[in-house]
Amino acid sequence: MAGEPQSDCLFCKIVTGDIPATIVRESETTVAFRDINPQAPTHVLVIPKVHYPDAASLAVAEPQIAADVLREAGLVAADEKIDESGYRIVLNTGSGAGQTVFHTHAHVLGGRGMTWPPG
Ligand code: AMP
Ligand code: ZN
Repeated sequence: MAGEPQSDCLFCKIVTGDIPATIVRESETTVAFRDINPQAPTHVLVIPKVHYPDAASLAVAEPQIAADVLREAGLVAADEKIDESGYRIVLNTGSGAGQTVFHTHAHVLGGRGMTWPPG
C-alpha cells in the first residue's frame, strides 16, 4: 500500500529506530535528525514517517503530511536559531538533482552564507 515502510529504505529504518540517528524533533507524522555529512553548521533532515520517494509524490498522496514536513522545517530553523539570519530548505528530487535516498526528506541548511544559483 502507498506510504507503507520499505524494508530496504534507510530512512524508514530511522523512523522505526532500527538505524540510530541524532533526532532533534519529532511530531506525530515526522522525524527530524542531523545529517550524517553536514554541509553547513546546521544541517537537519526532516522526513515524513510514511514512505514516499520524493516531496511531490508525498504532496499528491498526503498533502497534510507534506505541509507537516515544511512546518517542522521551520520549527527546526527556529530551534537552531537560524530563522532570523535565513536558511534554505532543499528537496532534491531525482538522481540527476543529487537525490540519493528515495524517501522524502527536506534538508534544512543554515548557519553560513548561501549562494545562488545552487551547485
Ligand atoms: P539526498 O542526497 O538529497 O538524497 O540526501 C540524503 C542525505 O542523507 C545526505 O545528505 C546524507 O548525508 C544523508 N544521510 C545518509 N545516511 C544518513 C544517516 N544514516 N543519518 C543521517 N543522514 C544520513
Ligand atoms: Zn522509506
